[in-house]
Amino acid sequence: MIGSQGDAKKIEETLEVKKVLSYFKQKFGPYPFKQLDIVINGGGMEYPGIVEVNTTPEEPAINETVVHETAHQWFYHGVSNDPYYHAWIDEGLTSLATMLYFINVEKTQLTHSWNNQEML
Ligand SMILES: [Zn+2]
Repeated sequence: MIGSQGDAKKIEETLEVKKVLSYFKQKFGPYPFKQLDIVINGGGMEYPGIVEVNTTPEEPAINETVVHETAHQWFYHGVSNDPYYHAWIDEGLTSLATMLYFINVEKTQLTHSWNNQEML
């Protein structure tokens, strides 16, 4: 996890990233990269082996962002759709995976709408 200690602690206190990875491995197969870096920089984006997340007060659903961007790791390159014209394919699968995690593991529902284009 890369970011300020306070922000990293905020995520670690409320979310077990290992539990997220374990769930997605169980449901979708082996993690496709050697490591996962979580960069706390005000973003919300996925790259191979890296996710960017935001912990500012404007982002109330930090755990959902981490889970969503982590789920992208299984679909980002595996689906291999055109991310500019057909991002909905990857986003649809990732949104489903995110919902499944919260329903089955956290026993909660999402608080954030992933229909929001800014969170793609
Ligand atoms: Zn997304």
